[in-house]
Amino acid sequence: MNDGPDDVRHEHDLLDSAASRGSETVASPDAISMDEAAVDPVMRSGFVAILGKPNVGKSTLLNTLLGVKVAPISPKPQTTRRGVRGIWTDRAARRQLVFVDTPGLHRGRTELDAFMTREIRGAIADVEVILWVVDLRRPPGDEDREVARLLTGVDPSTPIFLIGNKVDVAKYPDEAMDLYGDLGPTMARTYVLSALDDPEAVYDLRDDLLDLLPEAPFFFPENVRSDQSREAWVAELIRESAMGHLRQELPYSVAVHVTGWQDAEGDQPLVLQADIWVEKPQHRPIAIGHGGRMIKEIGRTARKQLEVFMSERIFLDLEVVVRRDWRMDPEALRELGYAN
Ligand code: GDP
Ligand code: MG
Repeated sequence: MNDGPDDVRHEHDLLDSAASRGSETVASPDAISMDEAAVDPVMRSGFVAILGKPNVGKSTLLNTLLGVKVAPISPKPQTTRRGVRGIWTDRAARRQLVFVDTPGLHRGRTELDAFMTREIRGAIADVEVILWVVDLRRPPGDEDREVARLLTGVDPSTPIFLIGNKVDVAKYPDEAMDLYGDLGPTMARTYVLSALDDPEAVYDLRDDLLDLLPEAPFFFPENVRSDQSREAWVAELIRESAMGHLRQELPYSVAVHVTGWQDAEGDQPLVLQADIWVEKPQHRPIAIGHGGRMIKEIGRTARKQLEVFMSERIFLDLEVVVRRDWRMDPEALRELGYAN
């Protein structure tokens, strides 16, 4: 850790805050020493896990916490397959939160299911706080009880915050909150909010998290927002588009592998190539669609999103490839980056 630049920035922070408060602050010696106390010179950072059954709004919450789209969101459960990390750095306060968005916990027998369970166990070890997200539209179900069981086994020194989400569309939020609160794990705090609709409530939660951080150097550079590779991020956006368009036809059996990336040059756009993996030969024509209409729509939606987030013109070249039973194939999972 290099102390030099940090000390310089700290002095600037002090100068800025004193200046912005005007001359009355400077006139009182007491006020100046209080100012110094208010700017905590200590670096604080830590990990926060976001846990909960599929579709409760974990990725939405993460995106609102970060103010940018890092985790893919889909109306279908199980869109998030990796423990995506999002990073929030408050430079002035010298604090950094590293969020771990876990894949939805569910029971299953494939290699992919095993990978996801390991991801979750890893994600909740060694964190400062666990955010347990629940959907207030409904009372707890089997999957919520499963999460509760997992959380009961967590080191009791790790606080768990119960986040009652989707209050904007919940009929009986208080009753639902009580039921979730009774599932077993001890909750250090509870929040009722809408991750989609009420960013201010999410920012309040973020402030509370910032206050809890222990003294520790930053884990990531200040300007970094995610530790996903750019290819993984692009692949997830394309997969989100594919799942949105394919819906009923091919649930969960689609993977995306980015195979090419040529940066923009002159008046040429950024060219991205990706394969859409399907599990069975008979899935291929479904993913391609009549006259290629489906694959075009998948590409169009994904490209629009990518262009917005990357702020550049993109040519997206998609191909549908049959990878037989890829979810059962450890080698295929490694290729996709699902390895642990
Ligand atoms: P995850 O599987 O837990 O990561 O859930 P997602 O973040 O992907 O969200 C699943 C669905 O719930 C998406 O359609 C979101 O738009 C929706 N959603 C998430 N949060 C809220 C909320 O606060 N209110 C409403 N009405 N919908 C939400
Ligand atoms: Mg998610």
